[in-house]
Amino acid sequence: MPEAAIGLGANLGDRRRTLRSGLFGIGLPIAAVSSLYESAPIETDPGQPRYLNAVAILDCPAEMRPEELLAVLLRVEAEHGRLRGPGKAPRTLDLDLLLFGREARADERLTLPHPGVLRRRFVLQPLLEVRPQVRVSGAEQPAQHLETCLSQDVALLEGRCWWWRTGT
Ligand code: ADP
Ligand code: MG
Repeated sequence: MPEAAIGLGANLGDRRRTLRSGLFGIGLPIAAVSSLYESAPIETDPGQPRYLNAVAILDCPAEMRPEELLAVLLRVEAEHGRLRGPGKAPRTLDLDLLLFGREARADERLTLPHPGVLRRRFVLQPLLEVRPQVRVSGAEQPAQHLETCLSQDVALLEGRCWWWRTGT
């Protein structure tokens, strides 16, 4: 059964509630969820609101293809009010397919592993929290990449049970 790693992010609206609802909305068995982090936007225009981020590990059915899962993620984003504009606009919900088993590909619709995994602290830190031994393409030690992005502003907000609690 392939395991998928999903990066969850939100910087508009009721961010915590949306992340939780989006996680359940994917509709796959949840194997692990990281702590909840808050991060300063990177690779965006200045002045955008801060993000909430987490990483979830999902158990996918054996026959599921990664592009099917991507289609589910895009649907769940849309159901949570995600509007797609040019550039990196603020978003109610961003669901990125970080890893799908050991799949590696780069076509116009889907790149795996997600190209941001090793350079974005808000992705790599929660991923290593739930899968410390993870391998990302050729990177032998993803933990070493974490050291190079530690200057990025990412703060632990809530422990790993955050998604069990309702409220905002
Ligand atoms: P970002 O999350 O990098 O800001 P967007 O969410 O705006 O980008 O864009 C997502 C688009 O990128 C999707 O329409 C999808 O086709 C493409 N894409 C390619 N690879 C991936 C991936 N691994 N996970 C999510 N989207 C991907
Ligand atoms: Mg995205």
